[in-house]
Amino acid sequence: GAHLIDGRTLAGELKDRVASEARELAAEGVRPGLATVLVGEDYAARVYERRVGSLAGELGCRYVSERLPRDAGEADVLAVVGKLNADPRVSGILVLRPLPQQVSEPAVFRMLNPLKDIEAVHPVNAGLLALGRARYVPSTPAACFYLLDRYLENSGREPRAFYPRSTLVVVGRSNNVGKPAISLGFARNATVISCDVNTYRAGRLREHTLRADVLIVAAGVPNLIDGSYVREGVIVIDVGINPVEDRSGGGTKLVGDLDFRSVAGKAEALTPVPGGVGPVTDVWLLRNTVSAARRSLAPGRESAVGCPSASGISG
Ligand code: NAD
Repeated sequence: GAHLIDGRTLAGELKDRVASEARELAAEGVRPGLATVLVGEDYAARVYERRVGSLAGELGCRYVSERLPRDAGEADVLAVVGKLNADPRVSGILVLRPLPQQVSEPAVFRMLNPLKDIEAVHPVNAGLLALGRARYVPSTPAACFYLLDRYLENSGREPRAFYPRSTLVVVGRSNNVGKPAISLGFARNATVISCDVNTYRAGRLREHTLRADVLIVAAGVPNLIDGSYVREGVIVIDVGINPVEDRSGGGTKLVGDLDFRSVAGKAEALTPVPGGVGPVTDVWLLRNTVSAARRSLAPGRESAVGCPSASGISG
């Protein structure tokens, strides 16, 4: 049968390392601080906010939660971001999505101090990532490659040798998941194919996913990919989180974008939902917060505009 890539275990290992980095910084007198900005009451955003807030506490980081009402104006949100930019106790800022219609996402993202923009949504940070010189690697695509790279290593393969011989197919190309995942595929010298809803509507999704040695699915469509979409031996990362009606117990449960059973019948390895990408995403956000705090230790070493660094995901 297929190997299950266990996100909880891998997240636990990563968490231990982030915790010890946070302790080292504390010994140098720096306590990393995470701030979240939530506008309105979106359920998934609130759940995520709570999770990263409590994880910050577990890792010894400061945590600031900023909440604005659903009818907040853009100026109110920009003012909150400005306040957090100026607060030396805040190392990293996460603006939760979705923002309400009257608040422009690009305007809010541009307002972020790039050095505190731990999700790399500011155009400068998104650009550095696309250039292969990422300052911060956004947490969900980072989690995908963290799981892939660790899985390859744990099964005796060297990622550096594996990707250049592989075709990576990414389904979905949102700014927060699919597009940065493509950049991370480029950074590993994979051959990369990007599909989105247009590919699907043209009736051509399957012909592309069938070429994948590695498949990342981030569409937000339950059961989008079944066994007929993949070839034997593929490695699959399922990013989707979809609430669906739970036929057995009533209520809702969360599923990914895969028809898990039929894909598992052909794949070498795949991630479950829940328990795959999600747990690593959470820890990665705090990892970026700690690295933002470390940067603040050496002001002047880095300008707010450009700082080349490796875009690979090391262990
Ligand atoms: P999004 O809605 O912004 O983007 C979806 C992308 O998928 C678009 O590019 C769209 O064209 C494409 N798409 C939609 N239907 C498709 C189809 N039928 N065939 C091919 N492509 C299709 O979503 P997002 O923010 O990128 O998130 C995607 C999914 O991942 C959602 O289910 C979301 O809940 C989940 N997610 C999970 C995590 C995590 O940590 N695990 C983090 C972020 C998002």
